[in-house]
Parts: sequence; structure tokens; C-alpha cells
Amino acid sequence: MPYSLEQSMMYVKGVGPQKAELLGQELNIHTVGDFIQHIPFRYVDRSKIIKINEINPDESYVQVAGKLIRLEKIGQGPRARLMGKIQDDTGVLELVWFQGVRWLSSALKVGQIYVAYGKPTLYRQDVNMGHPEMETWESFQESKVSGIQPVYSVTEKMRAKKLDTKALAKISTEIFSVGVFIPENLPSALLHEFSLLSRCKSYQELHFPTGRDSFFQGKNRLKFEELFYVQLELLLNNQLRKKTFAGNIFDSVGTLFNSFYQHHLPFELTNAQKRVVKEIRNDMKTGKQMNRLVQGDVGSGKTIVALLSMLIAADNGFQSCMMAPTEILATQHYRGLSELLQNFPIGIALLTGSTKKSERTRIHEGILSGEIHILVGTHALIEDPVKFKSLGLAVIDEQHRFGVEQRSKLWKKAPVPPHILVMTATPIPRTLAMTLYGDLDISIIDELPVGRKPIQTIHFTDKQRIRVLEFMREQIHLGRQVYVVYPMIEESENMDLKFLMDGYEAMLRAFPRPKYQVAMVHGKMKPADKAFEMDQFVKGNCHIMVATTVIEVGVNVPNASVMVIENAERFGLSQLHQLRGRVGRGAEQSFCILMPGDKLSTDGRTRIKTMVDTTDGFKIAEVDLQLRGPGEMSGVRQSGILDLKFANLATDGEIMTQSRLAATKLIDANSLQPNADYTFVLEELKKRNKGKRDFSAVS
Ligand code: ADP
Ligand code: MG
Repeated sequence: MPYSLEQSMMYVKGVGPQKAELLGQELNIHTVGDFIQHIPFRYVDRSKIIKINEINPDESYVQVAGKLIRLEKIGQGPRARLMGKIQDDTGVLELVWFQGVRWLSSALKVGQIYVAYGKPTLYRQDVNMGHPEMETWESFQESKVSGIQPVYSVTEKMRAKKLDTKALAKISTEIFSVGVFIPENLPSALLHEFSLLSRCKSYQELHFPTGRDSFFQGKNRLKFEELFYVQLELLLNNQLRKKTFAGNIFDSVGTLFNSFYQHHLPFELTNAQKRVVKEIRNDMKTGKQMNRLVQGDVGSGKTIVALLSMLIAADNGFQSCMMAPTEILATQHYRGLSELLQNFPIGIALLTGSTKKSERTRIHEGILSGEIHILVGTHALIEDPVKFKSLGLAVIDEQHRFGVEQRSKLWKKAPVPPHILVMTATPIPRTLAMTLYGDLDISIIDELPVGRKPIQTIHFTDKQRIRVLEFMREQIHLGRQVYVVYPMIEESENMDLKFLMDGYEAMLRAFPRPKYQVAMVHGKMKPADKAFEMDQFVKGNCHIMVATTVIEVGVNVPNASVMVIENAERFGLSQLHQLRGRVGRGAEQSFCILMPGDKLSTDGRTRIKTMVDTTDGFKIAEVDLQLRGPGEMSGVRQSGILDLKFANLATDGEIMTQSRLAATKLIDANSLQPNADYTFVLEELKKRNKGKRDFSAVS
């Protein structure tokens, strides 16, 4: 009778209570189902025995057979080691063990034929083998080990109790040769359509590959299955939310929007901006809550899109709020919006952590009475007990800085959840977006305003510093402004601050007052001081802004045309891209100058090269994902999608796309006509999600 997944390991032939207990303790393997989930981390071909003179020390694991011609214990106590020599008809190989010396020296017999299996290493010109597994020729023949064998990870404790990788391979052989019943969890029509192996066959291939192709087919099937259920859940959440949460209906595009659009727009919108505004408009009139993510590279003009959306809200009698991750940004948004809305019958206010009490009270009243239509602020805006008269739209800028929890608080500010518009300038690769924001609708502004000249990025060496200063001077004489940015990494704040101060002083020496003005901002400054310095730069009263990454996000000074990044190799790619986005916002040719600090690592070099080669944020995000892996991408950790067992978000984009397609098709088919396959996968999803948190009420 085949084993079942629920069966306790104890009853698998050759396991028994002691080993079962150890498996449970050490690897959390209790049932046959747990066991088959313990996927080998590599495979060896144990059927192949090579000659000693064929050993290539670059190879990973090899197997040789020959007579043990010598065995000698060297040294005493914990530093003792066992040296052996094995000989075949082509040569002699030295073997060495540092552990289990006593046991091995009595178990191994000189003169016998053994099969030694291990990793060859080169030591002083000679090849030897450290810690080979030894098996007598007879036992090797008997065990009939054939073909590719799995290698499992085991703990030290397991190894000490002889429950090593080989023992696990034996258990695995038992399970798969008797057979194990692994129920299929994807509809057969789907397996057929996407040419997927059965679930049972796939696990078998992962433990005992029968060939290269079938092994990868098995692996891909399990990746597909995993991603399919992730996508199914996201899509269902999106659907559920649309069903459950009514949204405010903004069906009139009225005087405010129209008169602004016709008479107050300072520029013609790009086609991409127009398209996105249309998408938002369509969302907001459906009667369902909008949950839309707008991705647009730095400088693509997301702010105006937000403003137009807020005007639609106002036209329909609703208030809006706009949240930014930092005070500087919020203030800037407030100023920018106020300027655009001059002479416009729209009340706008700014609420941040440093808003004075009297002002705060005034704002609270204005919000409650409805006099204020647009409230701009930092997260203080959600923490604050502010009560809206009728909040209809929440815009969240640079959303990666906000956690899910914070966003969900916004919902509680209105009886009907406000439409949510999330804007991010951190383009994320499509595969990741599908998973991270799979339950949001996505708009992309993939076009920069006309007349923008692509920023030139140049990588300088330390020796060329004088040239860089000269270049800065030229640009300043042309009337432009310059940023000089230093890395700030929390662990060594004091040292970083010193770098920054030294840099500031060097700038003061190279650009002396009163002819030049140099400002500085960093995270340790009081908000008021920071704001003052920033303001000087924004107003054009100073030429150079020496700063840490506090200026990274969103700050907009179109007259700034040079961005010098010191110790560029210490920044991540997306950060470099963000920083570069601070320039090139006006009509002038802008420059990004990357200065090296420490020696460049390979990754550092790739980052710098990528920056020099492209300004396309999506390309940069792809490279970033490849370099750092999904775990380091913003927002990924909180999302829990790292728990994936088989699929890799950085490399399995194609399978992800396929699985999303499959899930979409199934849902669509079911909404036309209820079908059994859909019911089946829904049941599976419920089983998989038992005990997991339900995110369906959070955007
Ligand atoms: P981001 O997408 O990075 O938030 P902003 O909204 O700050 O970009 O816009 C960057 C700059 O481009 C601003 O100075 C803005 O006024 C300008 N801008 C936005 N859209 C256009 C457009 N269609 N044509 C010309 N300039 C534009
Ligand atoms: Mg912005």
C-alpha cells in the first residue's frame, strides 16, 4: 500500500520511533508529507566511479574505488586526525578525517576495497579528499545505489546519530519505491493547458531525478503551483474588496476640474499623464473603492495627476488628503499645490508633526467644517485625531515608505473607505509588482515631459576631483545649482556625519563666501533648521546643497542641474536612481557625477555601470532585483511573499506571468458560468491558508 501524506514517519519502514523523534526535533518532519517537502539541496551521481588520475580538483563531489593501503592516526585528543591512502590501478589518493577519528580508525580496515565519496581539494599541489564517506565494495554493490542520488541537509545532531544524508536518501528510496499518494491540487484542464507534470511525479523528480528535463519540469510545476495560489488569492482579494466595499461615486467632472484643466495647467500633459488621469476617473465613478498604484519614474509628473484627481473629488463634494513620507516633501507638495491652486476656490492646508498647536486647532476645524478641501501632510495626518467632514480620496506619495498598517488606518477616517491612489517613483520589476501589488490596479506613467534632456551620468575617479570642482563652478556660473550627497548609514552615524562635515568644509573652501553660498541638511538636524536650509536652496539663494539622503525622495528644484554623489558605491541602485532624479527636472542639460570612495566590489561596479548606461527606472529595478534578490526590495519583507518555497521572484517572472494568467482565466470563466475547477481550487486555497492572516481589508 502506498504511503499517505498524513502518515507518521514512525511507521515508514526503517525509521522507527527514535529516528522519527529526531526528525521531528531537528527538522520538524513528522509526517510523510513533511518529509517529501524536505527537498534535496543537491544531487550526486553515485553510479559513477572515476579513476584516481581522472580527479579534477575543481569538481564538486566524486567517487573512487580502490584498496585502502594505509591508515594512520596522527596527533592526540581533539586535534587528532586520521590519514588514509586509497589506491586504484591509476594512482593513490590521500584521505583525511578530522572528526569521528576514533570510530573510523577501528571501522576501516587496511587491505579492503572501499568506495570513497567526497569532495577533492588541492593541497600543496596534491589532490586529497577531506571527510570522504567510506563504503565497502560489497556493501556498495548490495545497496544497488543507482543513478542520481539526493543529498539532503541534516543537522550536526542527526549526523552524530547516524541519521545523515545517506540515511535520509534511504528513507526517501523506501517512500518512493513503495509509492506515496500525493493528491493533485491543480485542475487537470489546467495541467493540460500549461503542460505541467502531475504533483506526484514532480515531487518524485525532485527527490530522484530521472533526467535533466524531467527534473526541471517537476521543479517548474511546483513553482507554478505555488505562484498560482499566491496570484489566485491576490485576485480574489481584489474582487472581494470590490464587492464588499462600496466606494464613493465621483461621477461628475465639474467646474473645478474643467476650469483648472483648461486655464490653469502650466503645461500640456503628456499622453501618459492623460491616460492615467482617465484611468483614475474611470475607477472613481464605478461605485467601487479605487485602489490604484501609479508607477512613474522620477520626474514623470505624478503630482499633477494627484492634483487633478483631488479636484475631481472636490467637484463631487469630497475632501482629499495627500500623504508624503517626510516633512520636507509634504511641505514641498503643499507649496507646489498652493501655487498651482492660487486664485482657485479650494482650501488647502498642511499638517505635519511640527505644526503648532493653534494652527493645528484651526486646521481641525477647517477639516471638520469642510472649508479645507485638500489636506497635505506626513503620517502625522493619520496619527492625528483629525476628523474629516467627508474624506473621499487619499493620495499616498512614495508609498514604499508607508507600511500596510499605516495605510489601513486611513480607512477609518471615513464611513465609506476613501479611494486610494498610491504613487511610487520606485519602479519595481513586473514580476514583483504582480505579487506585491497584485491586488491593486496599476497605472504606469512611462513617458517624461517633452523637452527633458536625459541626464548624463559620469563616473569619475578620485584623481579627477579638481575637474569636478571646476565643472561645478562652471555650472554655478551658468546660474545652476548643485547637490553634493553623502551616504548615511545608521550603524556608523557618527562616522558618516564626519564624512559629511568634512565634505561641507571642503565645499566651503572651494566655494568661499560671500561669492558662493553652501547649505547643508542631514537627518540629525532639527526640522526647523532643515526646513530653513532646504528653503534657501529651493528659493535659489544658495548654490550648493551638501546633504545626506534626506533629499532622496521627491524634492523638486528644477534649477538644480548637477548631482554629485560621494561614495557612490555605498548606495543601492534604486537609491542612486532616486538621487539622480533630483536633477534633470528643468529644461537644462543635467549631470549626475558618481564619485568613488572605497574600492569597488563587483556588485558596486555593476551598479555604477548600470547607472552610467541607463536612465530607465524599470531597467534599473530589474538589475537591482538580480543583484540583491527580492528580500531587499522595498515592501517585500512586510508582504510575507518571501515564504515561497520553490519559486524565486527574481528569476521566475515567466512562470509568475503564466500562473497569474491561469488564475485570471479560471476566475473569469467561473464568473460567466460557475464551474467545478474553480470550486476545487478555492477549496485548495482555503486549506493552504489555514491560520494565515487575512489581508483582504487592507490596500
Ligand atoms: P514626480 O513624478 O517625480 O513626482 P513631479 O510631479 O514632481 O514628478 O514633476 C516633476 C517636474 O515636472 C515638476 O517641475 C512638474 O511641474 C513638471 N511637469 C510635470 N508634468 C509636466 C508636463 N506634462 N510637462 C512639463 N512639465 C511637467
Ligand atoms: Mg513626486
